[in-house]
Amino acid sequence: MKSVRVVCAHDCPDMCSLIAHVDDGKLVRVQGDPDHPYTAGFACGKVNRDADLVNSPERVLTPLRRDGPKGSGQFKSIRWDEALDEVTERWKAIIGESGPLAVLGYAYSAHQGLLNRGLVLGLFHALGTSRLQAGTVCDTCCETAWDVTVGPVGGADPESVVHSDLVIAWGADLAATNVHFWALAEEQKKKRGMPIVVIDPRRTRSAKQADLYLPIRIGTDAALALGVMHILVRDGLANREYIARRTLGFDQVEREILPKFTPARTAEITGLAVADIEKLAAMYGRAKAALIRLGEGMTRLAQGGQALRTVALLPGVSGHYDVKGGGALLLTAASCDLNYAAIRRPSGPASTRLVNHLRLGEALLEMRDPPIRALYVSANNPSVTCPEAHKVRQGLAREDLFTVVHDPFLTDTARYADIVLPAASYLETDDLYRAYGAYWMQWGQQAAKPRGEARSNFDVAQALAKRMGLNDRVFTLPPKEAALELFKGATGPAAQANREKLFAGEPIHIAHDWPGQPFKTPSGKLEFYSEQLAKQGLPPMPDWTEDPIEAADAKKWPLRLLTAPGYFQAHTAFSGVSFLRQREGKPFCILNPADAAQRGLKAGDTVRLFNDRGEIGLVLQVNDEIQPGVVLVPGQRPTSETVSGTINMLCSDRYTDMGEGATYQSTWLDIAPWPVSDRPSQ
Ligand code: SF4
Repeated sequence: MKSVRVVCAHDCPDMCSLIAHVDDGKLVRVQGDPDHPYTAGFACGKVNRDADLVNSPERVLTPLRRDGPKGSGQFKSIRWDEALDEVTERWKAIIGESGPLAVLGYAYSAHQGLLNRGLVLGLFHALGTSRLQAGTVCDTCCETAWDVTVGPVGGADPESVVHSDLVIAWGADLAATNVHFWALAEEQKKKRGMPIVVIDPRRTRSAKQADLYLPIRIGTDAALALGVMHILVRDGLANREYIARRTLGFDQVEREILPKFTPARTAEITGLAVADIEKLAAMYGRAKAALIRLGEGMTRLAQGGQALRTVALLPGVSGHYDVKGGGALLLTAASCDLNYAAIRRPSGPASTRLVNHLRLGEALLEMRDPPIRALYVSANNPSVTCPEAHKVRQGLAREDLFTVVHDPFLTDTARYADIVLPAASYLETDDLYRAYGAYWMQWGQQAAKPRGEARSNFDVAQALAKRMGLNDRVFTLPPKEAALELFKGATGPAAQANREKLFAGEPIHIAHDWPGQPFKTPSGKLEFYSEQLAKQGLPPMPDWTEDPIEAADAKKWPLRLLTAPGYFQAHTAFSGVSFLRQREGKPFCILNPADAAQRGLKAGDTVRLFNDRGEIGLVLQVNDEIQPGVVLVPGQRPTSETVSGTINMLCSDRYTDMGEGATYQSTWLDIAPWPVSDRPSQ
């Protein structure tokens, strides 16, 4: 048995350093690396089972060719050469007839490695195909909101929490989604009595352990932040010196916006008690180094950008952005200045037709001149994760669409493919990683032999590039040499990484030694007033107004959707582990007892969730951790496990106010019993 130092490649801010225990090329177990300061010797409950994921009997082991109707999941095994020849012959024919825009590469984040993720993007960049505007299902709204406010720069170092005297988890269930930061914060609470505040529409595991929990109404975070600013100003707790020195436009916000957000009005909007709002403001205003951990969930609705931007402005009023242990943390990746273009953009046109990640269904069904005729999906499962998921499936069912899916499992999307290619997991590949929620970088070495004939995303991108006649050097380099390309022209701490230590698998700390939060906005200051937003016709100052479409939907439908990662099935990447599936239970939704009683429903009932877009079936749980008027659907689960469909079939593909992101939580619906006799056959 040997131990190999690897890195967790799941889409998670912590980027744990792991030890893989391997016997004769077979992965036996993974555990958190005890020598990594942030990982601190533990992986999360999901990844502790990654040996089961890698060795799952459900893995795709050979290339497959469709042998039945699209979506049927009927395939025949073929050889790699046959598969790659067929893919590239079809692409060449389509490009010859319709041009490269008729092809779309659709690769995303299920493998976080910079090589495995990046080189697939590089392949399609070099081919000059239609290009994916990636991440709109996830973080483009929050990133855009942060960028116009703070600038494209990383936020506070989570490890600076040892200097914090207050942590606010704002819309983030840290005990589920950021477990290493949560562990550090809890340690500070135990050692020094540092209070933790949780602001979340759901009484999460984190909320249950908080010193103060504020059960905010969905979509009202901006109002709460403005209400807190109102109190800080009223009580003389605003840091006037910092405001004058490091911020832009606060005077106008103070004059025109803050008077509207009295504690009473803030309470009315947010559904919180005035006393709790006052308590939060007093705790925040009197803290010397309060750290706000910003969650992305608050941005997945119509006014999501405004929400995140407003909360991110709070440390500008308190001046905590200037203090070690204070400020705000959304993401850190923007401050890892590697030369990503070397992998992602080796050649190809500077710009081309864009396809928004969340509107794949529309693109497949409606795009013309040319229509999308070939689709390549990797590390991504759009028939489950995209809003209007039924549209995605209609598009994937097009007989004239040539679809290739490269994945370790036969996902709902892969079932529609013409060719399925077996993908190696992160434990079966070499790659370079940098965290997006901490300041660490690490080389992850291949630990186990790939199962069956699985090949890495990086390897397949190179094989396809060669067959397509691309000559860029990066398509010929072995992984370590390709990784070195990322350092050419890199700046900052990442550029200084000792290559010997890096490739020996040592974690490299890449935190900047900033005296305070830098701002990379056009003014170089924290922008309460944003000219960039004004130019886009968006409100330049933070504010809260009711979204008119949401208001109209709320009149029509009694329940609002809340989505959150499931504890054991965060998304479909973990669905190949039967133990985790069982721990999570059959795909479910949760209603408050009052809403369940009103509909004559009880826990364990099979229910129909429906709105104008369609209906899906889940099992009901009843729990007062969910507010009345809300239905929580945790995780994203394969259709084969649900009673029927996927929750994203009920979500519209409307954009957020900033970053053209997805508005899952702007969904309104109702729930009713669903007897077997009324259900459609799957
Ligand atoms: S906490 Fe995140 S990074 Fe760490 S093992 Fe779990 S999924 Fe991976």
